[in-house]
Amino acid sequence: MTTSHYIAGRWVEGQGSDCISVNDPALGQPFAELMAASVEQVDQAVAAARAALPAWKSTSASERAAYLRGFAEQLGQRREALITLQMRNNGKPRLEAEIDLDDAIATFGYYAELAEQLPAKNCDVPLAAPGFSARTRLEPVGVVGLIVPWNFPLVTSAWKLAPALAAGCTVVLKPSEVTPLIEQAYGQIADALGLPAGVLNIVNGKAETGAALSNHNGLDKLSFTGSNSVGSQVMRSASAQCRPVTLELGGKSAIVVFDDCDVDQAVEWIVAGISWNAGQMCSATSRLLVQDGIADALLPRLQAALENLRVGNPLTEEVDMGPLTSQAQWLKVASYFATAREEGLQCLAGGKALDREGWFVSPTLYADVPKDSRLWTEEIFGPVLCARRFATEEQAIAEANDSRFGLVATVCSADLERAERVADALEVGHVWINSVQAVFVETSWGGTKGSGIGRELGPWGLSGYQSVKHVTRCLG
Ligand code: NAD
Repeated sequence: MTTSHYIAGRWVEGQGSDCISVNDPALGQPFAELMAASVEQVDQAVAAARAALPAWKSTSASERAAYLRGFAEQLGQRREALITLQMRNNGKPRLEAEIDLDDAIATFGYYAELAEQLPAKNCDVPLAAPGFSARTRLEPVGVVGLIVPWNFPLVTSAWKLAPALAAGCTVVLKPSEVTPLIEQAYGQIADALGLPAGVLNIVNGKAETGAALSNHNGLDKLSFTGSNSVGSQVMRSASAQCRPVTLELGGKSAIVVFDDCDVDQAVEWIVAGISWNAGQMCSATSRLLVQDGIADALLPRLQAALENLRVGNPLTEEVDMGPLTSQAQWLKVASYFATAREEGLQCLAGGKALDREGWFVSPTLYADVPKDSRLWTEEIFGPVLCARRFATEEQAIAEANDSRFGLVATVCSADLERAERVADALEVGHVWINSVQAVFVETSWGGTKGSGIGRELGPWGLSGYQSVKHVTRCLG
């Protein structure tokens, strides 16, 4: 049993009614347990964040930057433990667990720099009207609830924590019940750095704990990453209190491959876009649009590449892809395999769970999937790629945009003018041209349409935790 709630600078036992099992998905076996936080403990966490706010928001930007640099440094000091835990609890291959850790470190370093630039942003505003002066002051939004999913726990939490702390907000973080141990590192680091008690609080639990936080009237803002169904509940709670909310939700993103591409290079990008993190990425490019002139050459090579991926336990084998992270996700992906069979889809690779212990599925490719198939329109969140052919650039853009989601897209073409034109026409928050899933902390993250509200990363990530105040003075 693990003590896993960090409230007001102390580690406490969970007093909720849910017992959470922490699983090794490669074995399908639990390796730790913890009791969820109770609703009263969520109250205590919010109260601690509220009590810590006046002093924290009065710290200088350079003091906050020093703490953020401390987070980056201390994450680095826990490198091996955090990589191993992500491999064990998420089923991530080592390289992917390393990339996640480096991303989290870079995020804290980046927001330390932005925090240091904050004083210059509090500046005089020139007015056309005589007789008045005005100045801008960027203030922290206040006490912020942060609710995150399980697919990139270290990273998603860093993307929220670092800008929130940089802005001068105090926070209550609710990790996913599927991966409740990884973010404990943030509490341990807060302890090690002597972060003032209550600035960062962590409560673990399932939906009940998340709902207690998102419904709490002691929050000034909620930032949520997760599914559309829970996101809409979070938005309802926010609307009941007229409170700002940032939502990072699902995706069903397109990868558009024009026929001037190098086939092998295109296959590499397509495979990475659907197999990293076993396809459990909001940004998975799970809809392949391939131009007629290259489709017959590309699809057999793509099939072979997917079939050749080494799928296994990242802790004991050299693997390209691990298991799905939870049994629930495994059952969900298997249900889409059943739907594909019922719909009579043409399966070129995979389409089944692996016959071994743990929550493994085969990397999967369906070809010529009808536009109204559930597999073409719904987020599956697994290594399941659906392909369709297109003739013209206009058709590719129309089909890529024909989705209720709008998170990301990838465009592959040797004609860079065309690639840029298509990128501009796609209704998404982020487009990769001739690259795949490359996320830099300086660029924005977030989607259009059903993929969410607001942006993380870059200066936009910081603005999400700031409120603009103007002070106007009569000079007369
Ligand atoms: P989820 O919505 O089931 O859970 C997300 C978090 O919400 C968890 O911490 C969960 O405990 C909590 N929660 C559950 N019910 C709640 C409630 N009623 N009120 C408040 N909180 C509640 O999502 P998941 O299965 O953990 O993650 C997968 C989803 O996340 C996918 O849809 C994926 O696309 C999305 N996602 C989006 C991004 C992005 O940046 N856009 C990034 C990662 C994941």
